[in-house]
Amino acid sequence: MTTVRQLYSLQEVDLDLDRLDKQKAEAEQELDQPPALEPMEMALLEEEVRLEEYVDLRKARQLEVETLRQRSSHLDEQLFGGNVANPRDLNSLEQEADSVRGQLEKQDNDLLELNLQVEESEGKCSAMRQNISEAETNWQVRKSELQSHMKEIASERNTVSAQRNELASGVEATVLQRYETLRLSKGGLAVAKVERGLCQGCRMSLPTQQQQRLRSGRQIVQCSTCSRLLLLS
Ligand SMILES: [Zn+2]
Repeated sequence: MTTVRQLYSLQEVDLDLDRLDKQKAEAEQELDQPPALEPMEMALLEEEVRLEEYVDLRKARQLEVETLRQRSSHLDEQLFGGNVANPRDLNSLEQEADSVRGQLEKQDNDLLELNLQVEESEGKCSAMRQNISEAETNWQVRKSELQSHMKEIASERNTVSAQRNELASGVEATVLQRYETLRLSKGGLAVAKVERGLCQGCRMSLPTQQQQRLRSGRQIVQCSTCSRLLLLS
């Protein structure tokens, strides 16, 4: 005759299998969700385009500054070279030299500003590249952890599954059927221990008569509240 204790042992093994299946499902789910790198890569691409624009602009500005500098020193040579004696010509040369110097100063300031923008953008790009590469590395590490975890689960499951088969083979078919149906409808717990007159499955106290039947140990007793098979602990 099958005893409730046998069923309780079977249930412990079944709960172990449930736990392993849950762990496997969780690992599979996590493996199916690699980190979303696309938004990070898109942001990097945008910043790289911006950086290229700054660099191009800076190149153009450097050429302009160089041209202005040559023009300025050419004007200075004319001014101080002593070849221009006419005061009106000297005056207009001076005015032009002043104006070129003013433009040069402004362009120099713009160039400084552009240098800062290039630096800032380069910093952003390199930080973003680093973030992407870290996220990729972390994912590879996590992926291989999960894969080896899944191998461990599979191997443990084989062992536990063999135990389960052995235990189940010692249980009468009709009782096994009843146990399995109950387990399905009772959240995995078909067998409940009884402690101090309380069913540990539903926490309700058992009628005296039921407790007596249970103590006699001659038959399988079900909880009158939750229908679980009772085991006197
Ligand atoms: Zn109960």
